[in-house]
Amino acid sequence: MNSFFHGRQEIENREKKILAPFATFAADSRGREFPEKDDPQRTIFQRDRDRVIHCRAYRRLKGKTQVFVAHHGDHFRNRLTHTMEVAQLSRDIARNFAVNEDLAETIALSHDLGHTPFGHAGQDAMAKMMQKFGAHFEHNEQSRRVVEVLEKKSPHFPGLNLSWEVRDGLQKHRNIAGKFDKNLSQNGSLEAQIVDLSDQISYLAHDLDDGLRGGILSPDELSELELWREVSSRLSRQKNDKIWISAAISALIKKMTGDLFAESAARLQKINPKTVADIRAAAFPAIAFSPAFSQKIAALRKFLFEKMYKNPSIAIQSARGQKIIEKIFSFLLEFPDAIPDPFQKMIADGTPKFIAIKDFIAGMTDDFAIEFAQKIKS
Ligand code: MG
Repeated sequence: MNSFFHGRQEIENREKKILAPFATFAADSRGREFPEKDDPQRTIFQRDRDRVIHCRAYRRLKGKTQVFVAHHGDHFRNRLTHTMEVAQLSRDIARNFAVNEDLAETIALSHDLGHTPFGHAGQDAMAKMMQKFGAHFEHNEQSRRVVEVLEKKSPHFPGLNLSWEVRDGLQKHRNIAGKFDKNLSQNGSLEAQIVDLSDQISYLAHDLDDGLRGGILSPDELSELELWREVSSRLSRQKNDKIWISAAISALIKKMTGDLFAESAARLQKINPKTVADIRAAAFPAIAFSPAFSQKIAALRKFLFEKMYKNPSIAIQSARGQKIIEKIFSFLLEFPDAIPDPFQKMIADGTPKFIAIKDFIAGMTDDFAIEFAQKIKS
């Protein structure tokens, strides 16, 4: 072709020129578990992104609850809109730190593929059922299982056969207490760390937004939060509360990203990374909020937990979702013939029955689960 066309190799060379030396470069990818030919136009991460967007689990995200039950209202988030918000924020932050936007976007688009129906409540119910078998449930792990095993796109390999870097980015390198998983590098790539924090910024901002719009939270009770006072005090509250809420949420996101940029830039200066290996081996994550700001975030999280997730109207929906998951799980254990084909095949191939049932239920949308449960005579 002529000089107007820029193929994959040229895009890879451009990455080497414009990205930071500690970015994850497409040309240096550790590759796929099942080797495939390179694409003439797209880098390995661009191709991974396209595979995620075209997979069925991605399309089902639109029918999964974030906090409000899907269809509760036209303007509330579902897991698909949440995923898009995380992807957009991840790209922006990745661009600011001159690391790989395609990789950050792909990790973001796949980070919630393994989430159960009915939001956090669904995840809790699933964890409870798994405990009965001495197992556990964690949606990050399930997202990895979706792309590695459950999705089918080729007769030659299971899953989507994504690059090592995307799959690595889907695991939590630290647990909530900040301890390391011994089998993993100390930290994820910078791109993975960016997605992790973008997820937190997105859900805090939009849960607050949805809570205010849905009338679950009132602006007055929010004023007990220092962070909220900081972002809302300078905005004149006019007759139209909706515009005021939008402006305050926008200011909140700016405040969170602003702190993240300042703290992370300082941490990068301390780590002084030469390659992504230095990012992974650093004694602390490069992408983070400052300690003082983390306390304000913790206060916001606690507030949301007490005022929103425990609010009776939300708690009723959550309890209903949990019951549905428990009901379907118990029914399928007792009547495994009702498990659909692909999961039957997994059991025939040696997957324990409770794992196949977990995989089937975790993939359901809220509506599918509600309808399935209705068909079961209690
Ligand atoms: Mg998320």
